Amino acid sequence: MRGTEKLHPEVRRRAEKLVQLAMERFKLEVQITETLRTAEEQAALFAQSRKPLDEVNALRKKAGMAPIDEAGNRHAVTWAPTASDSFHGYGLAFDIVVKSGRQVDWSNGCDWNQDGVSDWAQVGGLAAECGLEWGGNWTSKPDLPHYQAPQGWTIASLKARGMVAGRTVTEVLTA
Ligand SMILES: [Zn+2]
Repeated sequence: MRGTEKLHPEVRRRAEKLVQLAMERFKLEVQITETLRTAEEQAALFAQSRKPLDEVNALRKKAGMAPIDEAGNRHAVTWAPTASDSFHGYGLAFDIVVKSGRQVDWSNGCDWNQDGVSDWAQVGGLAAECGLEWGGNWTSKPDLPHYQAPQGWTIASLKARGMVAGRTVTEVLTA
């Protein structure tokens, strides 16, 4: 987990617009929970639900992440085996959750503003206007918390360029 300063600057600008519009239009408090991921962080996240809890927590410790419990290890959080297989690995993607004060709700039916519409869908509906792709629109494996703006890059073109996962695209291109 990283702050928004670790996003590509244009993706960061769009992320901030999403947060602002969600509050203005729907009174929803959006928190950004994940941005750039290192190789160690992605390995730990990919292991989640696919490996026994002790292995998952050993990987999390190595990545500097807090341990999870058996319930947390029951559901998968990513389908990218390594950081270089995910736009998170290059600072081109982020994840959100909608908050109410200090409470967060990861359930699909999250409806903090009590308007009968899923908060995920309300925020997701703002994505295009912010220049973002919303993971909730994916037909095969919808990813409600996920947003990305690949800036014309594909995973293949990033890999071909020799991008190192865990460094933002901007960092690499200006290095
Ligand atoms: Zn994501």
